[in-house]
Amino acid sequence: MEKMLPKGKTSPVFEGLRGKNIEALFGTLRTPCYMIDEKQLKKNCEILAAVMKNTGCKILLAQKAFSNYDFYPLIGGYLAGTEASGLYEARLGKEEMPEGEVHVFCAGYREDEFDTLLNYADHIVFNSVSQLRKFGQKAKEQGKSIGLRVNPECSTQVGHEIYDPCAPGSRLGVTRAVFDREMTEDTLELLDGLHFHTLCEQNSDALSTTLTALESKFGDILSKMKWLNMGGGHHITKDGYDIPLLEKCILSAKEKWGVEVYLEPGEAVALNAGYLASRVLDVVENGETRIAILDVSAACHMPDVIEMPYTPPLYQETECEDGADCRLAGPTCLSGDIIGDYKMAEPIKEGALLLFGDMAIYTTCKNNTFNGMPLPYIYRLDEHGKISLISDFGYTDFKYRLGH
Ligand SMILES: *Cc1c(COP(=O)(O)O)cnc(C)c1O
Repeated sequence: MEKMLPKGKTSPVFEGLRGKNIEALFGTLRTPCYMIDEKQLKKNCEILAAVMKNTGCKILLAQKAFSNYDFYPLIGGYLAGTEASGLYEARLGKEEMPEGEVHVFCAGYREDEFDTLLNYADHIVFNSVSQLRKFGQKAKEQGKSIGLRVNPECSTQVGHEIYDPCAPGSRLGVTRAVFDREMTEDTLELLDGLHFHTLCEQNSDALSTTLTALESKFGDILSKMKWLNMGGGHHITKDGYDIPLLEKCILSAKEKWGVEVYLEPGEAVALNAGYLASRVLDVVENGETRIAILDVSAACHMPDVIEMPYTPPLYQETECEDGADCRLAGPTCLSGDIIGDYKMAEPIKEGALLLFGDMAIYTTCKNNTFNGMPLPYIYRLDEHGKISLISDFGYTDFKYRLGH
């Protein structure tokens, strides 16, 4: 019988491993571990750099998705800077990608941190007119560019409410009604730009729809602004993304409102640029269900599997209907620490090496040590196929989060 082909051999998610011997690459490494694929990262950056070149827009790395700063020199060679969710990410961006711009958006800035933040940030985006009133003047005096996040009230995604800042009752961004009620001459005068972030893993048709809504809500304000930041969620580097339409959207905004355009994708920068390797510790059965217990945990090492939720791509999975059914799960005490149900190219055995794909984004930066689980080591796979260790972790990384 012909061997069933694992998905990893054909799926774009594992493009970076094509032609490579998986056992030779990962076989001697301590699992679980992440491997960041520099070639894939570079490929993504080249696509983004081409959009900048074709449109004159600026693209920033949203650090909350991928803050593995060892790769900032590479990314900084292509992109215009970093976007931060608060003080620590702003500092990381400034220190590790010093030649780039640092933009920050936070739903609530703290009085006791704001002066420090001013040391790192170039653009500061506020989430409300009251925060703009409280901090805007001070930031302006320090030469910062000031923005306000607006809510165009245009949901373009269904079934993903926790990722929809336009959902009813959302706290993210000022609606036009609130803008009209609260904005005064002096606060409007502080503004250099508007910011919106409403997309999540979406194509440029959703951006186009959003820009139409934005124009009808805030078109009059935009023509008084210096810049428009279109946030993240643009799946630019994914196969099938309509880049010409994105470029059309950017050029049309620039022309219509005379603004400079920023994008701040996270996912798109490091899409498919990392793997998470794991080994099977045990195989158990319950009724019809065969369950492999892995040394990696969904709850600790890929929390979006549970939060989003989604089933991560697996190299050893097969598209063949008669693949061996297997549930993959973590070793923690959480009943729901389940990675997913898969059809395996080969029946699963203790000790087998398993590789999860697209594990660069929203993974290492969201890890936790629940149950005293160790943090996976992080390796770099460079362009020449050479592997080097970036970070190892141990007992103290668990202990010192709890006390000293
Ligand atoms: C999350 C976020 C981003 C990045 O989103 P991706 O989906 O990773 O592209 C950019 N800007 C803001 C304000 C965000 O909250």
